[in-house]
Amino acid sequence: MRLSRYFLPVLKETPSEAQIASHRLMLRAGMIKQQSAGIYSWLPLGFKVLNRIEQIVNEEQQRAGHIPLLMPTLQSAELWRESGRYDAYGDELLRITDRHKREMLYGPTNEEMITDIFRSHVNSYKDLPLTLYHIQWKFRDEIRPRFGVMRGREFLMKDGYNFDLTKEDALHAYNRHLVSYLRTYERMGLQAIPMRADSGPIGGDDTHEFLVLADTGESEVFYDSEITDLKFGDREIDYDNVEQLQAVLEEFTSRYARTDETHDEAVFAEVPEERRRTARGIEVGQIFYFGTKYSEPMGATVVGPDGARTPVHMGSHGIGVSRLVGAIIEANHDEKGIIWPEGVTPFHVGIVNLKQGDPSVDSACEALYRELTAKGMDVLYDDRDERAGAKFATMDLIGLPWRLTVGPRGLQANKVELTSRRTGESEELSPADAVLRLEKIYLPVFDAAK
Ligand code: ATP
Ligand code: MG
Repeated sequence: MRLSRYFLPVLKETPSEAQIASHRLMLRAGMIKQQSAGIYSWLPLGFKVLNRIEQIVNEEQQRAGHIPLLMPTLQSAELWRESGRYDAYGDELLRITDRHKREMLYGPTNEEMITDIFRSHVNSYKDLPLTLYHIQWKFRDEIRPRFGVMRGREFLMKDGYNFDLTKEDALHAYNRHLVSYLRTYERMGLQAIPMRADSGPIGGDDTHEFLVLADTGESEVFYDSEITDLKFGDREIDYDNVEQLQAVLEEFTSRYARTDETHDEAVFAEVPEERRRTARGIEVGQIFYFGTKYSEPMGATVVGPDGARTPVHMGSHGIGVSRLVGAIIEANHDEKGIIWPEGVTPFHVGIVNLKQGDPSVDSACEALYRELTAKGMDVLYDDRDERAGAKFATMDLIGLPWRLTVGPRGLQANKVELTSRRTGESEELSPADAVLRLEKIYLPVFDAAK
């Protein structure tokens, strides 16, 4: 993309309504525009990041064997009366009446609808296990939408639902989600710690929330510091292997890590004092096992091996796709702007032309732009007729992890400058070597998608 032809409405002033860094930076970098309280347009740069996150979520869900579908945003109140949640959900539920006076609602989550799909089409235990998911906009009429996309009213969520014959199978599905989530967040450059949590209006006994530690997080968390040393890494996972997944679950959940809802001082006191930590965290996902809570009242049953009908065991599993954009920025920024992790960056590299209009500089930039694009990289080429300082400030603000600076002096020695946004360190390389360096840097990112 040539910046001269892009739509990147960066702001010079820091918007006064934004209280936290990610909200300020998303507004300043021209990623979002608020349309009403807690409702945003995603401008091109923000939309690109949202898509990258969505793509990682899709890849990891499908790697775990989960099947994508798409359910609508509007649901009928009837369905929610069957589970009893139409009245129970409270004011967060946006209720809508259509022209025929039918009661509808904008879905805050989809347990009822997916259970309805299941009961209409699945009859036998032989069709299990089954996990369906979608990535769809949700609406919750939050009393206090704030912090930009972190607590919106309209927000994008991946929600998945597993259907299993037995509790044991459903707990394997739970583990599959836990493991795939660990991998998902790591690919985004985030450490998200699974913590014992409370199930809230979804219901059920077994549940973990995934929390990113950040001072601006809304949850209070308590944990054993050893847990922050755990890395998922690039281990090989066989998602059908019950023992392997159980072992990963134990590895990542055996140390003390809880949100304030389930925190227990007496148990916490058993953690050696020097490892006890209290902090703030951002909830970026949650997994639940809730058994037959929805399948029983809604008649989602299958014929079992013994010929008798039994309600299926279910769980649901959410990732806050749009909240993640804010959470990643909270964890990755400095005073100059955003610092995108390579896995989610909107553009892999930015090219800064220091002397627009100089034939040799222009043609070197054009060649780099072409070659990097041919290697599968998304490149933002700042080809505007602007001062170098302004170009650097824009690149720093929008946070591309790598910048190539091309100027007449360097080119005389066949050199361009490759700069890391995170460390600020620069290397002088020939244009050809710069392309090779970037290819190597992004190899693990492209490999992780396979
Ligand atoms: P919270 O406690 O933050 O209100 P929740 O526990 O009610 O969230 P879930 O039902 O677990 O939310 O939804 C799954 C994920 O969707 C959450 O982990 C979170 O990342 C995201 N999410 C929930 N509410 C919002 C919101 N208002 N804005 C943006 N993302 C949200
Ligand atoms: Mg939750």
